[in-house]
Amino acid sequence: MKYVDEFRDAELVQKTVAEIRRTVTRPWTIMEICGGQTHAIMHFGIDQLLPPEIELVHGPGCPVCVTPLEQIDKALEIASRPDVIFTSYGDMLRVPGSHKDLFSIRAAGGDVRVVYSPLDAVKIAQQNPHKQVVFFAIGFETTAPANAMSVVQAKALGVTNFSILVSHVRVPPAMHAILGSPNNRVQAFLAAGHVNAVMGYWEYPPIAAQYHTPMVVTGFEPLDILQGILKTVQQLEQGRYEVENGYGRAVTYEGNKPAQAVISQVFEECDRKWRGIGTIPNSGWRLRPEFADFDAERRFDVGEIRPEESAVCISGLILQGLKKPNECPAFGKECTPERPLGATMVSGEGACAAYYRYKRE
Ligand code: SF4
Repeated sequence: MKYVDEFRDAELVQKTVAEIRRTVTRPWTIMEICGGQTHAIMHFGIDQLLPPEIELVHGPGCPVCVTPLEQIDKALEIASRPDVIFTSYGDMLRVPGSHKDLFSIRAAGGDVRVVYSPLDAVKIAQQNPHKQVVFFAIGFETTAPANAMSVVQAKALGVTNFSILVSHVRVPPAMHAILGSPNNRVQAFLAAGHVNAVMGYWEYPPIAAQYHTPMVVTGFEPLDILQGILKTVQQLEQGRYEVENGYGRAVTYEGNKPAQAVISQVFEECDRKWRGIGTIPNSGWRLRPEFADFDAERRFDVGEIRPEESAVCISGLILQGLKKPNECPAFGKECTPERPLGATMVSGEGACAAYYRYKRE
């Protein structure tokens, strides 16, 4: 398959690993931002191919993992209401809130539906004018354009029974938070190629310059990831800290301008709490005042919610690259994908789930 097979070529993989081995002279810690890349690294055994000098740590780029528990509890509260059709991507249905999940709401008679696009939720609202239809709008820059478009479309069509529960997060402020921490260990980033396909990478050079940290926009196939690692190691060894694009088949410097325009039309920046990490300034998007009618948090008074997080979970440290999943005492014991205690075991993209699935024990 074009754009897949050539990036899984075993001979090229071996050559790139050999080049990394020839280049590296001392220890380096590199963070892959995206949970999809974490899973690819585990799935293809890339971490086991690398020389011991290179340590990969796993970043906060798993949207389900970083959605705050109180936001999930709000979703559950809204989805329990008899006048509501609650819609979401499928990966949110099994994410546990403090006491239940969307599956259990549906089992108890709630109208919870999986959709493949927020625009489908707008259609459901048109077909059910006597119900309130809510879409759970979580995620990074990748999902924001479609979520913004659903609001634009609902407004244009005069659909007044549609709203979104927003929990959007952005990558650059998370990079600032990680690199600015006094405990930071990250010396280079593999940036998440799909985020950059939307946003470009024009926001990254000032961050690389401020923290003297190389960044390479990286794809998701084995050769993409190894070439991203090679480029970062070359920069680290040479004392450079630039932003390079290793995913040129999908990413440009400017990114997708129409997608960025619809995001700016509908959303504005806000402080956002990240599960396990805490509040990061300007790291989220919320609806602009002119679209406030589509804000599910305003439409439904869910009151103050106090979530109950596990006391043993160290997922916040894992999401900042300070610990590995197998350093958690609960890993694979009290905490498994069937019975997750924390953010990074909940989602299929979470680092703990990846370590569990691919047996990095
Ligand atoms: S193994 Fe479970 S409890 Fe431990 S850090 Fe991961 S999610 Fe949290």
